[in-house]
Amino acid sequence: MKKFYLNFAKSIALFSCLFTFLSCLKFKKINLSISQPNVQEISIPKKSTTKKIFLATDKCPEIEREQKLKLAKRSSTLKSSAPKEKVNKDLGIRFHFVGDEEIKKKAKISPEEQKKLIIKILSKLPKEHRVTLDRLTIKFNEDMRRGYGNADRITMRGINMDKKNFIAVFIHELGHLVDLGFLSPRIEKKESGFYDLGKPVFASDPSLDFYRISWKDDENLLESAKEEDFVSGYGATDPFEDFAESYGYFVLHGNDFRKLAKNNKALKRKYLFIKNRVFFGKEFTGISSVYTSAKERPYDSTKLDFSLSRFFAS
Ligand SMILES: [Zn+2]
Repeated sequence: MKKFYLNFAKSIALFSCLFTFLSCLKFKKINLSISQPNVQEISIPKKSTTKKIFLATDKCPEIEREQKLKLAKRSSTLKSSAPKEKVNKDLGIRFHFVGDEEIKKKAKISPEEQKKLIIKILSKLPKEHRVTLDRLTIKFNEDMRRGYGNADRITMRGINMDKKNFIAVFIHELGHLVDLGFLSPRIEKKESGFYDLGKPVFASDPSLDFYRISWKDDENLLESAKEEDFVSGYGATDPFEDFAESYGYFVLHGNDFRKLAKNNKALKRKYLFIKNRVFFGKEFTGISSVYTSAKERPYDSTKLDFSLSRFFAS
């Protein structure tokens, strides 16, 4: 009988060891999948991811030790290099780098540099502009467009773009985020007659004051609108591109925009809308020197040269 109890106790001990080992394996797997650089497209919300890490540290002493070590290392680096005030190095932005490692190697600017550039650009612009930014994806995919932007996401192509082009395209996409995110009103019933990809723009949307400078609705220009009322040909394709092109032009070619606005009422209204309603009065001094006359309008303002140092000194 005694032997039976002994064997029974041994079996329980063995079973509990096996269970702990399995749970360690299970939690370790979850933990690893979170830190894998290529699985960054996972759609687990930030909060639940954190919760899973806590669960893993609670259950597995090995992982807990590893994570404490990592945290200690991180905080000691922060202590030595961080300024006195608390600064969130990533501005709270979630970056997602997606794509094949071989294609990433072909990029003119490395993923790490791209991230630094974006943080640097955003730190030069009002923080309100990025409040709705939920996901920033950089795709290393040769076949996609240079960028996309909507109310809460920006997606950039990570390859075949030099530094200036990457910056200009990012600022253009940020213009879409500002237009559809920062300048969006509460949801309401009253519609404006403008539609963005089939979704109604509500009557209290602050951007309507901008759109209506040149547009009757999202497809038709006002009869009085002229080619010279836009900072670029692409800006004249719809009111949303008009906004994003004007936003980018304001940031990177401020001097040129002011010069053009002196002789054009529509451009003057667009400039003042962006200055006062979007930038709270702040202005930029960029010059492209490529064109300053109404006749030499580029099709795509993101392809214009600009002064990097002027922008970063702003
Ligand atoms: Zn656009």
